[in-house]
Amino acid sequence: MKIKEFSRDGRKIAGESIIMTEQEIEQNIQKIADNYGLDNQLNKTIEECAELIQALVKLESRENTIEEIADVQIMLKQMLYLLDCEEEVEKVMEYKINRQLERIRQAKEQ
Ligand SMILES: [Mg+2]
Repeated sequence: MKIKEFSRDGRKIAGESIIMTEQEIEQNIQKIADNYGLDNQLNKTIEECAELIQALVKLESRENTIEEIADVQIMLKQMLYLLDCEEEVEKVMEYKINRQLERIRQAKEQ
């Protein structure tokens, strides 16, 4: 299936879209992570986070922002896998989400 051409910084990028299932995404991300290893991917994660920060500060291009969010999501998925901490992160996320919702509730009561 062809994806629509989209312009990024004046360049046209066209390609074939490969529709991956969630499971295929996970498997492919693990392949990439295993290929490069933890040390390399830690550095790459730092790099991609910095690029996302720059994109968010500038907010000049929607396409660029989307691309940088995708890069960071890919790297974070690799971190979860390489650091073997997916369940722990989910638990901490749940705790933090609940804590924030509680703060919102309390603020409304005042
Ligand atoms: Mg990037």
